[in-house]
Amino acid sequence: MPEATPWRRCSACKKPIALGAVYWTCNVSTCNQKRTALCFCNVSCWEVHLPGANHREAWAVEKRAPKTPDGGVEPTSAGAGGVRRLVRSTAPPTPAPVPTTEEVLIVASRLKDYVRTRSGYNTSDRVLEPLSEIVRRIMEQAIENARRDGRMTVLDRDIPNY
Ligand SMILES: [Zn+2]
Ligand SMILES: [Zn+2]
Repeated sequence: MPEATPWRRCSACKKPIALGAVYWTCNVSTCNQKRTALCFCNVSCWEVHLPGANHREAWAVEKRAPKTPDGGVEPTSAGAGGVRRLVRSTAPPTPAPVPTTEEVLIVASRLKDYVRTRSGYNTSDRVLEPLSEIVRRIMEQAIENARRDGRMTVLDRDIPNY
């Protein structure tokens, strides 16, 4: 077997892909243009190109290198065009909808009245945001406590340290 004669080199790790050997390509057409055609010695190497490639959806396609240096690429036994071996969506993981509710949870007038009554001081509107953040954090824990109790109502005793 002409295993010693490399056909091409893996686009990721540069290891030789021998004539007649199984190799992997990317299903995405931009990775298969004549000049840039990527080939990989295994699926892990195929995965290496994904972060930069920005494919919406991609999978590795199993192919077999030609038996002779000038031969054409033969389809694997499963038929022309190679086999879909691995289906993997490479769309960047849609981040869980982060509660970007930068919403102010504090009633400004009440808070300001309270501070004025206590101290005679004014209160900057900018304290409302960090205070709201604290409330959100506490309520997250309270919600978790209610959930653990199998309740769908948050009670006063769910508030940590209350
Ligand atoms: Zn490789
Ligand atoms: Zn690709």
